[in-house]
Amino acid sequence: MIDTAADLRQEQTADYRIFELSGNHYTIGYQMGIATDLRPVENWRDRETELAFARACADELARFHPALLDEFRGYAAAQGRPWEEVLPHVSNNLPEGVLPGCTTFALRLPDGHVLIGRNHDFLYSRRERYLRRLFPTGYLASLGTQAGFIGSCYDGVNQYGLFVSVHTIRAQIAERVLPGLPPYLIPRILLETCRTAQEAAVQMQEMSFLSPFNYLIADPQDMIAAETYPGRVHIYRPQGTGLVITNYYRSPDMRSFHGRRNLTDHVERAQWIEARIGRDSPRDAAAGWAWAQELLRDHSVPVCHHQPNQATFWSLVADLTARRVAYCLGAPCRNPYQEHPWPENNAPQTT
Ligand SMILES: [Zn+2]
Repeated sequence: MIDTAADLRQEQTADYRIFELSGNHYTIGYQMGIATDLRPVENWRDRETELAFARACADELARFHPALLDEFRGYAAAQGRPWEEVLPHVSNNLPEGVLPGCTTFALRLPDGHVLIGRNHDFLYSRRERYLRRLFPTGYLASLGTQAGFIGSCYDGVNQYGLFVSVHTIRAQIAERVLPGLPPYLIPRILLETCRTAQEAAVQMQEMSFLSPFNYLIADPQDMIAAETYPGRVHIYRPQGTGLVITNYYRSPDMRSFHGRRNLTDHVERAQWIEARIGRDSPRDAAAGWAWAQELLRDHSVPVCHHQPNQATFWSLVADLTARRVAYCLGAPCRNPYQEHPWPENNAPQTT
């Protein structure tokens, strides 16, 4: 049952903004701190324990992308906040039970182009929906989305044609979670420090993860799935031309983490896209561009969602080979895809 008016209202009143930010990470953080409000992190227990854990997570982040911590420092400085108030964004972990889905596919077309389609779905209540073009000094440029967590990225592309996306997983709560990285910082780390999917996969094998999540990583030559759980990562490549990732583990050795949770919607969504790829996969990049958009607007499975606990906030189509990318801000069935310049490392002129 869809309340169309409520669904439209949540989209029209959400905070959709596009940022173009350059300079060092501190400057990027400072600019975000001026322009946005700090997203609260609710699920902290006792403060001292959580702060100690968050500091250890910040140490983990420093192993992979120390400059990204400067973005947190800049954000805190802009709002006159002590470090402790932004630290929860380094260690945040979503409680289970409210996690909706996301859908991403990567497809190698007969002309060799790698096509990406992606819908990001979340709860109506999440209003921060930012698209950011980032040109950080000394790191790779990227275009990607953010929903309020400092330094985060949910999906995006970098200047070398690398793509990364995140997918929540409902799974058993891990008995022990060591300090590690929250899911939303991982695409950001990979997009700013890696040139290829293989490099990103090697990085991921070194990381420790706070939450169960899937990632799709692709470049013009390669596509990789990374299934993660605290203390575990399983990386695989597809057998055929396509890779479809939703919100469940495919690897047999990861499957048991789901317990008895119902995965039907996530499995059906993936299977429907795989069937479409098998049946009417586009011949070339030009046909693929429109085909991907049509697929992401689908309401039959559905791929495009309109429920309070699962609404499609934005959608992306990219041709990694042609360096072509478009974002649709809002549900793709009623909003246009807008092409954006491919991110390059020559930062835009600022006045
Ligand atoms: Zn729709």
